[in-house]
Amino acid sequence: MSESVTTSSTQRYDVILIGAGIMSTTLGAILKELQPQWSIALFESLDSAGEEASDPWNNAGTGHAALCELNYTPRGADGSISTAKAAGINEQFHVSKQLWSHWVNNGTLGDPRTFINSLPHISFVWGDENVQYLKDRYEAMRAEPLFENIEYTEDMDTIGDWAPLLTGGRDPSQPVAASKFDDGTDVDFGAISRQLAEHLQTSGLDLHYGYEVKDVSRTSDGQWNVRAKNSSAGEKLNASAPFVFVGAGGGALGLLQSSGIDEIRGIGGFPVSGQFLRTTDPEVAEQHHAKVYGLASTKGAPPMSVPHLDTRFVGGRRALMFGPYAGFSTNFLKSSSYLDLPLSVRPHNLATQLGVAAGNWELVTFLLKEVTKSQKKKLEELYKFYPDAPADAWEMITAGQRVQMMRKDENGKAMLQFGTELVTGADGSIAGLLGASPGASTTPSIMFRLLERCFPSKMESWRPKLEEMVPSYGRLLNDDPQLLQEVSSDSQRTLKLAG
Ligand SMILES: Cc1cc2nc3c(=O)[nH]c(=O)nc-3n(C[C@H](O)[C@H](O)[C@H](O)COP(=O)(O)OP(=O)(O)OC[C@H]3O[C@@H](n4cnc5c(N)ncnc54)[C@H](O)[C@@H]3O)c2cc1C
Repeated sequence: MSESVTTSSTQRYDVILIGAGIMSTTLGAILKELQPQWSIALFESLDSAGEEASDPWNNAGTGHAALCELNYTPRGADGSISTAKAAGINEQFHVSKQLWSHWVNNGTLGDPRTFINSLPHISFVWGDENVQYLKDRYEAMRAEPLFENIEYTEDMDTIGDWAPLLTGGRDPSQPVAASKFDDGTDVDFGAISRQLAEHLQTSGLDLHYGYEVKDVSRTSDGQWNVRAKNSSAGEKLNASAPFVFVGAGGGALGLLQSSGIDEIRGIGGFPVSGQFLRTTDPEVAEQHHAKVYGLASTKGAPPMSVPHLDTRFVGGRRALMFGPYAGFSTNFLKSSSYLDLPLSVRPHNLATQLGVAAGNWELVTFLLKEVTKSQKKKLEELYKFYPDAPADAWEMITAGQRVQMMRKDENGKAMLQFGTELVTGADGSIAGLLGASPGASTTPSIMFRLLERCFPSKMESWRPKLEEMVPSYGRLLNDDPQLLQEVSSDSQRTLKLAG
């Protein structure tokens, strides 16, 4: 790769990043450390970084460490609780904390309080069957080194000590249970995106705010050409590079389709919007210091719609958020067009989309019910968690769009996927990210996977630097309790978190 060269109409770079959310800014900052001499351009259609799904009011800000989200520990057909998915996500969150610590230490990120705060992560259930599930989950989790700090109780008073809003006004005879980790976090991914974007700009990256990328296409010399337009200034930019990352969130599907790579064929996008109840009333917000996740009470509810009552720290202020309430809207980004869904339908993904629609009536019915739910009904959901909630303290806010991926499985069955999917072209010269949670919390691990897939010949020379950035790089902490202890206390100390 070479230094950037300006031609009459096309600026040449070593790397082009599209979108300034948590994904692209993280990849940019990693690449700047691994290859400081590479020229990098970043195109963002909005006027600032981290304003779409990564904005703190557009997501739930959970440092998804699988400490409280019950959908990561399902009960299997044999009745046992599987901790495999939770362990995988927790490992990835340790990687995130190590990288953020490295960046705090070298000044890439600022004061950790501006983007991460300590917060107990609690799971809370009611009803005999759910109490039994939580108890079995506790037994399964405490056997894993990653989760050995879990606490469990069925005692209403203890739950009241942990999170008083859950128990005030609750029927004392109701069977309840809760588990708790004190080392959970609340993360502002918008703040991380903005700090990384600022760092990248001062390190020489060409950041083009206000430029929407219209398409990505192959040139005859094997490069990727990116066409971008700033509509308000009436300006166009062309840029090319041997490697492009499409970190455009909900905009990624259309841009990957424009690239014509085989790997995007057959894939469709299903947008699910979300709303949260929010209060910034200090009298209410000061009484709760936790993220509390429950179980979905409605049949067909997708995994990302499990209810949770979260303390949030945004811009140094404390708030409470409850939700999400799922909704349906055909745009793929909060700021984009309602035509996104119809325009994403292509001959090669039509069968997948129809197959998913036909096979997911429970989800469709769930979404219809959610969309038509009255404010009163929405508050009733809150009262199940927080029986004494003052109705007038809450406002409804619209969260970011999640574009869930629709694709065919190996048996040709159309399915809807709820995770995050890294799509890479066969030659590794283009990559993009589709899907949603656990998304932001696991960004560093996703970006390291991208490097392994797209730059395999570089990995050996990059390894010492990668191990400096993430001391446990390539190793599983669950298999090495001593290393787990070391990296946990290092990142807790650097990020000023409770241990
Ligand atoms: C309701 C909700 C709750 C969530 N909760 C959590 C959570 O608790 N924990 C968690 O880890 N994750 C959560 N997520 C997922 C998380 O928010 C996403 O995985 C993550 O923010 C995605 O980051 P990104 O950089 O890919 O996308 P984004 O942050 O959306 O960034 C994409 C950027 O690309 C820009 N862009 C788009 N198209 C173009 C174009 N054509 N040209 C130029 N720029 C373009 C956009 O303006 C945007 O700035 C949640 C998401 C939602 C919607």
